[in-house]
Amino acid sequence: MADGLKMKIKRWLSRMGDECRDVVPLLSYALDRKLTFAERIRIRLHLLSCNACTTYANNIGFLHKVFHIHGDKIDSEEIQTTLSPDAKDRIRKALESKAE
Ligand SMILES: [Zn+2]
Repeated sequence: MADGLKMKIKRWLSRMGDECRDVVPLLSYALDRKLTFAERIRIRLHLLSCNACTTYANNIGFLHKVFHIHGDKIDSEEIQTTLSPDAKDRIRKALESKAE
């Protein structure tokens, strides 16, 4: 790695919060192996509130990989987030009535 780039990364790492320090390695692991469910949740939650890590993740191709390799899971999450409150309520009631 070029020294200039190393310095930039070091400076960026020193500005990051603790959570970023924990999440960034996971973004790299995602390129090499399938992340655990807990790791994916952690990353997704963190990226919601952290622009720096989101930019980093985009840069290393993390989102591309995860969204395509693990597309089945992402799709089901999208479906959940696009359900209307009415639909969620209907599903919840249906589940409750089955549980009784
Ligand atoms: Zn972050």
